[in-house]
Amino acid sequence: MLTVLESLKLSTEYLEKKGIESARLNAELLLAEILNCKRLDLYLKFDQPLKENEVDIYREWISRRGKFEPLQYIIGKVEFFGLQFKVTRDVLIPRSETEILVEEVINFAKDKSGLKILDIGTGSGNIPIALAKNLTNAEIISVDVSTKAIEVAKENALLNSVESKVEFILSDINHFKIETGLFDIVISNPPYVSAEEYPSLQKEIVEYEPSIALTDSNDGLDFYRTIAEKSKSFLKKEGKIFFEIGKEQFDDVEKILLKNNFLNIKITKDYQQIERVISGELK
Ligand code: SAM
Ligand code: GLN
Repeated sequence: MLTVLESLKLSTEYLEKKGIESARLNAELLLAEILNCKRLDLYLKFDQPLKENEVDIYREWISRRGKFEPLQYIIGKVEFFGLQFKVTRDVLIPRSETEILVEEVINFAKDKSGLKILDIGTGSGNIPIALAKNLTNAEIISVDVSTKAIEVAKENALLNSVESKVEFILSDINHFKIETGLFDIVISNPPYVSAEEYPSLQKEIVEYEPSIALTDSNDGLDFYRTIAEKSKSFLKKEGKIFFEIGKEQFDDVEKILLKNNFLNIKITKDYQQIERVISGELK
């Protein structure tokens, strides 16, 4: 039987040959998941022989990863904002940049209580759930057009014990209607990749993640136009809007916000110094 060290070596070589970046790290993370231990604990188990069923699962997982399936879909989970989320191929894998979006809203909202928040394009539910965990008495409504995404988001709310704080609504934002002036905050990480850029994204993304989560099939700005326009009626006076944006979208999204009566435009950069989160206040 193969030992932990031998199987790691073979798997790393295989993934390298297939062109997977950080092959060793991927091989380690997958095996740690199967052995139900931390990645670094593998180093204490190098001589341990793998059981037959462990080898079978590992072989299948390494083969899937070799076909560029994202690691998070293979293990079925991801960490976001210090919390665990289930992910399936029906939802976008939460990105670390999106933690900055959540952080901006928490910074703005942390001293206020009883805020009403509308999250548009919920996916796995990562945004509303991270907000519900960190804000007292916030009431959150989350909208997504994907039935399967809403199912995953509801499961994640249960997993994180915030099911009573978040209401999930299945709706296309273009047709979504709700009482006027209800919300203090609108937050969204919408699909913002243009039709032109989409085919050039990493193979992992284009071949495995849902395209409706990533692109508007136009210029990448459609959701900002729609959400900014509709938020004029979703929000209370002086309500705030927070968007995640893509590289080089700041100028265009700022114009869209200004055109829709949002003022005090603020930008926050991400770890790579890319302008990532834009916010504004309704006049
Ligand atoms: N909030 C998650 C996150 O930050 O990881 C997912 C964001 S993903 C970029 C965009 C989400 O918008 C997807 O879950 C997708 O299903 C949803 N979406 C796409 N078109 C939509 C529409 N017309 N109305 C509502 N939601 C939509
Ligand atoms: N940041 C995502 C990417 O990896 C895009 C997410 C989005 O469209 N909101 O391409």
